[in-house]
Amino acid sequence: MIRSMNPATGTVIAEYALHGPEEIEAALAGAAAAQADWARVPIGDRMALLRAVAAELRAGRDRFARLITEEMGKPVAEAAGEIEKCAVTCDFYAEAAPRFLADESIGSNATESGVVFDPLGVVLAVMPWNYPFWQVFRFAAPALAAGNGIILKHASNVPGCAAEIEALVARAGARAGLLRNLYIRGGDVGALIADDRIAAVTLTGSTEVGAIVASQAGAALKKQVLELGGSDAFIVLADADLEAAAETAVRARFINVGQSCVNAKRFIVEESVADRFAALFREGIAALRIGDPMDPDTQIGPMARANLRDDLHDQVRRSIEGGARAVTGAAPLEGPGCYYAPTLLDGVEPGHVAFREELFGPVASIIRARDAEHAVALANDSDFGLGCAIWTADIGRARALARRIEAGAVFINGMVASDPRLPFGGIKKSGYGRELGSYGIREFTNIKTIWIG
Ligand code: NDP
Repeated sequence: MIRSMNPATGTVIAEYALHGPEEIEAALAGAAAAQADWARVPIGDRMALLRAVAAELRAGRDRFARLITEEMGKPVAEAAGEIEKCAVTCDFYAEAAPRFLADESIGSNATESGVVFDPLGVVLAVMPWNYPFWQVFRFAAPALAAGNGIILKHASNVPGCAAEIEALVARAGARAGLLRNLYIRGGDVGALIADDRIAAVTLTGSTEVGAIVASQAGAALKKQVLELGGSDAFIVLADADLEAAAETAVRARFINVGQSCVNAKRFIVEESVADRFAALFREGIAALRIGDPMDPDTQIGPMARANLRDDLHDQVRRSIEGGARAVTGAAPLEGPGCYYAPTLLDGVEPGHVAFREELFGPVASIIRARDAEHAVALANDSDFGLGCAIWTADIGRARALARRIEAGAVFINGMVASDPRLPFGGIKKSGYGRELGSYGIREFTNIKTIWIG
């Protein structure tokens, strides 16, 4: 049984029966048949499905947004934005996929040679709860556009979202079984990966589960894309516009109640401006509206699950024991629901838990750097390598520093965020492979060489 709970109230929303061996077998057979058919559909018709999916998303936007908020607690205004972003991404690939997948001519000693992009087959998607629709659609839109089928194993705390995703893609006109949701336990994923009808796997989630899935996919010699945790640095140099940096810092850290892989987590600030930045940051945090996530004005709702809040509080406690200073927050909020006080830690250093581990919740850490060189060294002193922001008035210097940052993306004078037009992904323990843009759609294709003598 999978139980969906409302983290704002602790009440049970619904219960879903786990799928048994016969249903799993039927899903695999159905997805394989639907995909074989879908792969032969002209690309123009595939794009029509994506446009219809976008229309379904927009038609159901408010209902889907409320469901997201009920199941995982994010503020409903953000949930509505998430649905719109899914629709925009479907529209983007409906327009761009024919270009990204067009045959390429490559000169060689042949009369004619080049590549074509064939679908890989049915891809298993193991997805997390933090953006229950977006995480799925940022993979599914390009994967379907490329002619693949999908088996979805969604996180166990968002089963209602999983069902709605399957239903809306079917309503949009997808072949029966082309995107199939399965209610299974994480421990059952290995058997699916080993099945011959699964061609590849994509996972968004923790580094620990990433390592498990990577080894299973490796043993089965199957392609994988992993989008794992992050501990993104947000570097503020002495010449930065501090007001703008602090305002963006609040959004970059507290959006989605701090539960995003690309939330800025380590605020690395040049010593000469650190006190001023910390004061501005603290003011911004104090102004955040905490409350019922169904209220469109709420900015901070509950965290998604009680165990996630407990783990976060333990990390904060161990950071303070290690020498970090709590400026504000640092405790669960009284009352029902999984609320955690928006927290600012100052004086965080490389030995502290808040520096070394990913803090997946509303907790910001300030780390003081001697100068820009030290800031880059601190940013790179991490097991993770997802994103990084650099704030400075000197764009030339920022460009040069950006080349030395060990991450999948560097944003200068802005906050790291995904955009369907740009590739997204990490290095080091943040994973490998790319999603979105032209790079993302090609991950799940067979880049096939055609050579004519
Ligand atoms: P998990 O990594 O456990 O969950 C992500 C997905 O993996 C879920 O669908 C989950 O299913 C599935 N899963 C769990 N165990 C296995 C397994 N052994 N084999 C295959 N799949 C499995 O994340 P949590 O929800 O527990 O969150 C823990 C931490 O992970 C967070 O604090 C954060 O650090 C990180 N995280 C990162 C995300 C990102 O965007 N990169 C998103 C979410 C979490 P089930 O729910 O059924 O266990």
